[in-house]
Amino acid sequence: MANITNITSMKKALDFNNTEIAFADKSYRELRWSNLLYTLMNRPALVRWGSRLANWALRMKLPVEGLVKRTIYRQFCGGETIDEARPVIQKLGQSGIKTILDYGVEGKESEADFERTAHYLAQTLEFAREDEDIHIISTKLSGLFRFNLLMKVSSGTTLTEAERAEFSRGVARVSRICRAAAESGIGVHIDAEHSWIQTAIDELAWEMSRLYNQENPVVINAVQLYRKDRLKFLHDSLEHARKHGYLCAVKLVRGAYMEKERARAEELGYPSPIHDTLEETHRAYNEGLEFCLSHLGEMYVCNATHNEESCRLQAEIMEAKGLAPGHPLVATAQLYGMSDNLSFNMAYAGFNVEKYLPYGPVREVVPYLIRRTQENTSVGGQMSRELKLIRKELKRRSSQKG
Ligand SMILES: Cc1cc2nc3c(=O)[nH]c(=O)nc-3n(C[C@H](O)[C@H](O)[C@H](O)COP(=O)(O)OP(=O)(O)OC[C@H]3O[C@@H](n4cnc5c(N)ncnc54)[C@H](O)[C@@H]3O)c2cc1C
Repeated sequence: MANITNITSMKKALDFNNTEIAFADKSYRELRWSNLLYTLMNRPALVRWGSRLANWALRMKLPVEGLVKRTIYRQFCGGETIDEARPVIQKLGQSGIKTILDYGVEGKESEADFERTAHYLAQTLEFAREDEDIHIISTKLSGLFRFNLLMKVSSGTTLTEAERAEFSRGVARVSRICRAAAESGIGVHIDAEHSWIQTAIDELAWEMSRLYNQENPVVINAVQLYRKDRLKFLHDSLEHARKHGYLCAVKLVRGAYMEKERARAEELGYPSPIHDTLEETHRAYNEGLEFCLSHLGEMYVCNATHNEESCRLQAEIMEAKGLAPGHPLVATAQLYGMSDNLSFNMAYAGFNVEKYLPYGPVREVVPYLIRRTQENTSVGGQMSRELKLIRKELKRRSSQKG
C-alpha cells in the first residue's frame, strides 16, 4: 500500500474513479457476483417484493437463512459470529482499512435482550482488543434501552420509579461498555437515531464523553446534518466539551430516517426537523465538516458518508489547512460492500479509512439488509452508483484479458 504523507502528492493519488484500486481485493469471480447482485437490486419492483417476501418468510419461520446468507448477506455483512467475520477484517486491514465492528441486531424490547446485546458488545470489545485492524465498535442505544423509555426521557416527561430504575440499568450497561472501551483503547460509535429519542441519546453520549474522552476519542457521538438544528448542536457539543475539559468526538452523517421523520411530523402536526431540500442538507454537512476540521485538537471527526463530494471536501480542507491525510483525529467511514471507490482510494492516498461491518445471525440482520437493498435500487431509472463502478471495473479487466 502506498504511504503518502506528502500533501502535494496527495492530490495526484486521490482519484475516486480508479476502479482498479477500488476493487483490487476482489477476484473477477467476486466482481461478477457483485454485478449480478447489484443488477437485481437495481430493479425497484424486485426490491419491493423481495423485501416483503423476506420479511414474510422470516415471520413464518421458513428456512430462508441459507439463501439470504449466500446472496445479499455476503455482500454487506462479515459473518454470523466474530470469528466468521475475521477473514473480511483481515482483508480490509491488508488495504490499510480499519473495521468498525457492529453487532447488527435491531428492534429488541426486553431487558433480557438488552443484556444479551451488552454481552455481545463486551465480547466484540474483547475481540477488538486483540486485533489491531478493529479500533471502533458501533452501537445503537435503542438496542440497550426500551425505545419508549428513550422517547419518554427525550420528551422530558417525569418517569415513574420503576422507569427511573430501568433507565439506570440501561445507563449502567452503556457505562460498562464505554469504560471497557476506554481501558482497551477502542472507540465506541453511538449511532444517531430518530429525533424523538435523540435527546436522551445525546445527553448520555455527552456524559460518557465527559467521563471517557479525557485523552482519546473513545465515545463518538453521531450528528445527523439533515436536521435543521444540528449545526447549533455541533457548536453546543464543542462548548460542552470545553466546559468539562474533554475531547469532543463526532461522527458526521446526513441521516437515515428522513421519510419517517417527515411522516411523523406531518401526522402529529409539528414542523419537520429535516431540511426542506437535499441542497440544504449538503450545505449543512459541508459546514459541519469545515467546523470540525477547523477545531481539530479540541475535536475528533469521522466523515461517515458515501458522497464523493464530501470525501473530496475533506481532502481539500485538510490540504488547505496543511494537515497530513493520516491526521490521527480525522477519519472517513463507509459501509462494507458499498463505495469501495471512496474507501480504497482514500486509504491508498494515506487517509484514515474505516469500514462499518455488521455481523450477527442472518435472521437478526435482515432489517439492515433490506435498508441496503432499498438504498441501492434504481432512482428515476438510473443505474445505481455501485453498479456503474462494478461494470466499469469488469470492463477494464476484460479489455486487459483481451
Ligand atoms: C459509516 C456510516 C455510519 C452511519 N451511521 C449513521 C447513524 O449513526 N445514523 C444515521 O441516521 N445514519 C447513519 N448513516 C447513514 C447516513 O446517514 C446516510 O443515510 C447515508 O450514508 C447516505 O448519505 P450520504 O452522506 O452518503 O449522502 P448522499 O447519498 O449524498 O445523500 C443522501 C442523504 O441526503 C439526505 N437527503 C436526501 N434527500 C433529501 C431531501 N429531499 N431533503 C433533505 N435531505 C435529503 C438524506 O439524509 C439522505 O440519506 C451512516 C452511514 C455511514 C456510511
